[in-house]
Amino acid sequence: MTWDVEKIREDFPVLSQTVNGKPLVYLDNAASAQMPRPVIERMSAYQSAEHSNIHRGVHYLSQHATTAYEAAREKVKRFINAPDVNCCIFVRGCTEGINLVADSYGKGFIGEGDEILVSQMEHHSNIVPWQVTAEERGAKVVVIPMNERGELIVEEYERLLNQRTKIVALSHVSNSLGTINPVKEMIAAAHKLGVPVCVDAAQSVPHFPVDVQDLDADFFVFSGHKMFGPTGSGIVYGKREWLDKMPPYQTGGSQIRIVSFERTTYAPLPAKFEAGTPAIAAGIGLGAAIDYINGLDFVAAAEHEHQLLEYATERLADIPEVTIIGTAAHKASVLSFTIDGIHPHDIGTILDQEGIAIRAGHHCAQPVMQFYDVPATARASFAFYNTRDEVEQLADAVQKVIEVFA
Ligand code: PMP
Repeated sequence: MTWDVEKIREDFPVLSQTVNGKPLVYLDNAASAQMPRPVIERMSAYQSAEHSNIHRGVHYLSQHATTAYEAAREKVKRFINAPDVNCCIFVRGCTEGINLVADSYGKGFIGEGDEILVSQMEHHSNIVPWQVTAEERGAKVVVIPMNERGELIVEEYERLLNQRTKIVALSHVSNSLGTINPVKEMIAAAHKLGVPVCVDAAQSVPHFPVDVQDLDADFFVFSGHKMFGPTGSGIVYGKREWLDKMPPYQTGGSQIRIVSFERTTYAPLPAKFEAGTPAIAAGIGLGAAIDYINGLDFVAAAEHEHQLLEYATERLADIPEVTIIGTAAHKASVLSFTIDGIHPHDIGTILDQEGIAIRAGHHCAQPVMQFYDVPATARASFAFYNTRDEVEQLADAVQKVIEVFA
């Protein structure tokens, strides 16, 4: 395997700057990854010469923009191996996508006394929408527990699945721990009882190839900005058998068939779920990000990134004051840690002075913080453009933080 990381880095203009007088070390990829030049240029070309509102226009620009937008949808379909392009719905991001599923599936299929299974390691975006649905529908959120390493306890999950379970909401990869969950097996277990599974794929699609048909996911939701595309783009993939039966999430222009004051009927998929003018440039940018990923050896990229994670884990584990939070056997990208007696925000601030961007906080996963009884963690998260040298700089800077507070 050869992965020419220096050459890849040339594609990402943002990486070549200095921050606080030091070369930027960008290790906040789980929050937002950076965009390569082809994505930036594609969006700029669209804005400069192709912009027009889509789907309704008969004029040249509108038709051109529509073709570009729908081509991006086709790219999404192939990227996740969806069986049907019309089951790939554009949304603003993962949060909006999960809200769509929770609200619409909830209205269609969840009632009094039903249960929604949600794992203990979910991002707030995959907890709160389900809580709201549960409240509205008279249902209950039931938590799939995890062990000390930050791995879901699958036997417990299987025990919790029952006739009242109406959906399972599960992250593919945890943003606070890095755990890769065994979603394929967990989906198969739910399907034995006819229960659909909504996979939060925000942290998996940037890190390894995915296949919604192989996983047999009922819903699969992700954001463009974590996979080298723009903010304002995201996808809900859903199986047609569910999407066709679910009511619209938002209503208004573009998603209707016929409107009268007496009665409105809705457009077929995907339009039914795409009310109003979408983020057209963002959707096209997401398509460009997929083109970019397809142009890489994504398996080699994932391998390179995994080596970085392992090396960083090794380096930080060697520092006695450091505790690594999340030590699952299967992990991707994320290294969460604490340092004895030093608040993660102080770690983040001192690292920033060294030009190193990490995240400090609860990572929108307060139940995970409660589980480990910490207020917050420091989190380094890697992408395929990070280097071994950057891991060295991180480890050295962490050592420096400890010396500052000694
Ligand atoms: N789920 C997970 C696992 C995430 O990491 C994030 C973003 N941190 C989200 C959902 C929400 O994504 P967005 O903010 O792009 O809507």
